[in-house]
Amino acid sequence: MIIFGLEGTAWNLSAALVDEKNVLFEKMATYVPAKGGIHPREASQHHAEHMARVVGEVLQEAKDKGLKTDGIAFSQGPGLGPCLRTVATAARVLSRKMNVPLVGVNHCVAHIEVGKWRSGATDPAVIYVSGANSQVLALRRGRYRIFGETLDISIGNAIDKFARSVGLGHPGGPKVEALAKEAKDYISMPYTVKGMDLSFSGLSTAATEAAKRYPLPDVCYSLQETAFAMLVEVTERAMAHAEKKECLLVGGVGANKRLGDMLTSMCQERGAQFFLPERKYMGDNGSMIAYTGLIMLKSGVSTPIAESKVNPGYRPDEVDVTWAEG
Ligand code: AMP
Ligand code: MG
Repeated sequence: MIIFGLEGTAWNLSAALVDEKNVLFEKMATYVPAKGGIHPREASQHHAEHMARVVGEVLQEAKDKGLKTDGIAFSQGPGLGPCLRTVATAARVLSRKMNVPLVGVNHCVAHIEVGKWRSGATDPAVIYVSGANSQVLALRRGRYRIFGETLDISIGNAIDKFARSVGLGHPGGPKVEALAKEAKDYISMPYTVKGMDLSFSGLSTAATEAAKRYPLPDVCYSLQETAFAMLVEVTERAMAHAEKKECLLVGGVGANKRLGDMLTSMCQERGAQFFLPERKYMGDNGSMIAYTGLIMLKSGVSTPIAESKVNPGYRPDEVDVTWAEG
């Protein structure tokens, strides 16, 4: 089976073709805001502008190699409404034109599935940390249950907001990580874990305030240490509760080496195994949508056009996991 996948929930428009074993091709076009954070309408205009080229390049490669596409997968949500609608419109057209089934994929579930596929994890507790989401999940009785999540903004957003406030530009994650390496001291920051849930908004503001008085590297370091300790605490408790012996890190913030190291030591102490997919599968990409669409279609799931409406607030635990056991 060969599936075409289209991702475009936020900053990255990406199309890919995958089969059961490999990613065959992937093309993308990245939206970079002129100033500030992601503007939903501008991002969707970016996607519309680049859609024909990105999709066309993947389909042309398929044609050149004589490959036949068996289905069209698209990110149905969660994400920015205008971006989702642009992607869904293109996906519906492709499905109709090529006369192959359409499958709407939950973007969070796709991060998890591509992470498992590329890292070899089988039944992990998942820490999903990105520009828009921060969740700790595990498969239980047919769904990816959310054990803990942010009550306000995501960790990626918290870092990006802080970074913009001190003039580091967007996205701030990699810049904050680099600066943190030059730190000398830890500055106390608000550590907010409520039950199994997290809050990052106050932490982001506290870091912005601290940057007025302390060296920037110390603030970056303290922000990371505090936020990541909160995430590791919740992940560890989810692993204990759900009795998972594996931990999988996915989402754009997963590129952070310090977060990976902290999770690695937590796993070592519990006798568990830590999994990290290659970096190109951590942030948003078309391959994750194509692959998840493939395993969904194989398990008999498809999305009739009438049910292909986008869902900006689509939660991963709304999806019946018909393709895996846990
Ligand atoms: P995603 O939404 O999954 O595409 O991920 C984008 C988010 O990942 C943005 O908030 C980035 O700032 C963040 N990010 C990317 N690289 C790093 C890094 N090395 N450390 C922390 N955050 C990062
Ligand atoms: Mg994402």
